[in-house]
Amino acid sequence: MERQLHTTHNKTETEHLGKEFASRLVPGDIIALYGDLGAGKTEFVRGVCDYFRVGEIVSSPTFTIINSYIGVLPNEEEVRIYHLDLYRINSTRELEEIGFEECMAADDAIKLIEWADKAQTAIPAARYSIIFHLDDKEEDTRHIEIRRTEQHEVVEPIIISS
Ligand code: ADP
Ligand code: MG
Repeated sequence: MERQLHTTHNKTETEHLGKEFASRLVPGDIIALYGDLGAGKTEFVRGVCDYFRVGEIVSSPTFTIINSYIGVLPNEEEVRIYHLDLYRINSTRELEEIGFEECMAADDAIKLIEWADKAQTAIPAARYSIIFHLDDKEEDTRHIEIRRTEQHEVVEPIIISS
């Protein structure tokens, strides 16, 4: 497992980190985002979408659960980007109902999952996990860990406690 730790001091820095991170992504990649409400997951996704030149403003798809965008790769080809927010998901049955498994299996799409802890074992191990922590003292400081795991690795459940 590869790990990187970053610290940001405002939302623009978090968005910028997302944009910089996105340059390593390829179609098929899964990005699981962990962290409390207001931790900065959506700001990070905004940066990823900016890298792929997604035109629409990204907001958390809390009510729709899955948003779908068309982005542009560096080679000018289009790429489908799914942005999921599992905040309101409370059971495996609900995950099935939204077509979670089919979404993960979309090999030509980039999948970004907010509140990924709601789906733990349903997310393939070959993925990026981005873990957002609020700072104990500084209101606008976030500690953001980027992990990369491969298919054969066992991914420990990630539990957010702030
Ligand atoms: P989440 O999707 O994790 O619930 P959002 O990205 O929607 O969180 O919101 C993060 C909130 O925290 C925004 O209101 C933003 O202005 C604020 N904020 C303050 N500092 C930061 C930071 N370093 N990174 C990201 N957001 C920050
Ligand atoms: Mg959000």
